[in-house]
Amino acid sequence: MTTSHPFRAIIVGGGPVGLMAAHTFYRAGVDFVVLERQNALAVPEAAGAGIGVMPNTLRLLAQLGLLEAVEAIGTHMHPGTVVTNDGQPFSTVDTDAWCKEFHGTGWVIVHRPELMQLLYGALPEEIRQHLFPGKEVETIETTEEGVVVRCTDGSLERGSIVVGADGAHSKVRDCMRRITLQESPKAAVNEEKPFVATYRCVFGHTVSPPPGISPRDEWHMHGSGISSLLLAGSEKTWFMFSQKLPKPTRERRRYTEKDLESFMEEVGHAHCTSTLTLNDLYQTRTSCYLTDLHEGLIQHFHHDRIVLVGDAVNKQTYNTGQGWNTGVQDVVVLTNKLRALMNNETNPGVPISKRKIEAAFGLYQKERYPVVQQAVKASMMFTRTEAWNHWYDWFADRHVLPRTGGLKLIYRAFLVPANVNAQVLDFLDENNRPSGTIPWLHGSKGNKSETSPGIH
Ligand SMILES: Cc1cc2nc3c(=O)[nH]c(=O)nc-3n(C[C@H](O)[C@H](O)[C@H](O)COP(=O)(O)OP(=O)(O)OC[C@H]3O[C@@H](n4cnc5c(N)ncnc54)[C@H](O)[C@@H]3O)c2cc1C
Repeated sequence: MTTSHPFRAIIVGGGPVGLMAAHTFYRAGVDFVVLERQNALAVPEAAGAGIGVMPNTLRLLAQLGLLEAVEAIGTHMHPGTVVTNDGQPFSTVDTDAWCKEFHGTGWVIVHRPELMQLLYGALPEEIRQHLFPGKEVETIETTEEGVVVRCTDGSLERGSIVVGADGAHSKVRDCMRRITLQESPKAAVNEEKPFVATYRCVFGHTVSPPPGISPRDEWHMHGSGISSLLLAGSEKTWFMFSQKLPKPTRERRRYTEKDLESFMEEVGHAHCTSTLTLNDLYQTRTSCYLTDLHEGLIQHFHHDRIVLVGDAVNKQTYNTGQGWNTGVQDVVVLTNKLRALMNNETNPGVPISKRKIEAAFGLYQKERYPVVQQAVKASMMFTRTEAWNHWYDWFADRHVLPRTGGLKLIYRAFLVPANVNAQVLDFLDENNRPSGTIPWLHGSKGNKSETSPGIH
């Protein structure tokens, strides 16, 4: 698609959501740059979390021609076993089969650094020239005509809009808040620290399989104030173990190696499988980190020429595996809105007005807010039920659900709605992706001829 309107997006953050935005903007013909504060993009040795790629994202990856590549680095899970913290099995889950039934496709776990490398490497060489590492955004100014972004190295970037894909502690979100309050000190704004951590988590991975663990094994542990998840890929095994904090915090805490060791002393004896404790997994670790798990959703996704996506908008724990997938959906809906904005502009060569940009951002928030809210609520509920936050969580999780097969019904009631509400790029073909017993609510208009636009 060739646009005759000068329009340029500055995407701040080259994380998994920013890289996805690079793909969808490129396919929509939206000119862009990505500014990433790290000195390299998609580094192989980055934090070793696993990321679950859910059916709605697989559907988008099929549109982008990346499905086979992601499936090749991903693993589908066998049915999982749920144990108590002393290793007693009491329940089973089979989310891959449930996804297949409901959505026509399962889900895959991938190693986050490998996913990032794949996304980066799949961009055409000339598009990769639009991605700039070593650029930490410091301030943003907006005018009637555009935006000026200043980086800590003194460089300036000018564009039409800023897309904040800079994570949970977003600088872009801070700038947006400041600009709003400068214009009107009593305006409704996002909280300065909008996300609250009630749990903290050790997450890590190992390249040599822990004893007794085979590819596709899935284990959950549910306990009082603690829970864990182990997922075994064909080459790597990922583990996550969360613990309720003494009191919730909005602060950003950086844990040290010593904190990690204390954590292990405190809870390392708890089982993650029927035979392996957290300590056993820790012994085999290739990487391991301790971090607070912030949760929440902001109220204002945009202001002026600034719009937010991904973890800058909402934060979920790993329990439902939806964080990145939710951010990808932000990017899809935003891309559709921007493309429509450019296509509907009737005055060639004239910059798209701020009023029209704000209207497009308004539509983006209107469509996304209820769906993201649903996903965040579901994540909070699963997190608390799995860590037996109340006696009734324990009773339902330990005694009722395993006997009634209720876990599938809970999954159906709380996770499926956000999934089937997912959108695709409305201008690309869906390449005959299957659907399941619960149809997708949104489809693409499909048009194979528009799949390779390029940036102008
Ligand atoms: C243990 C664990 C397991 C998880 N499992 C899953 C899962 O199974 N499924 C799932 O969907 N999600 C999962 N998540 C969540 C997922 O990792 C996040 O939702 C996702 O990484 C969000 O991507 P993002 O690009 O929005 O933010 P980030 O990943 O935080 O990336 C933000 C990027 O912006 C850059 N940046 C920040 N500030 C600036 C600045 N001022 N200037 C320039 N660049 C800047 C950062 O360097 C970074 O590269 C998990 C998370 C954890 C911790």
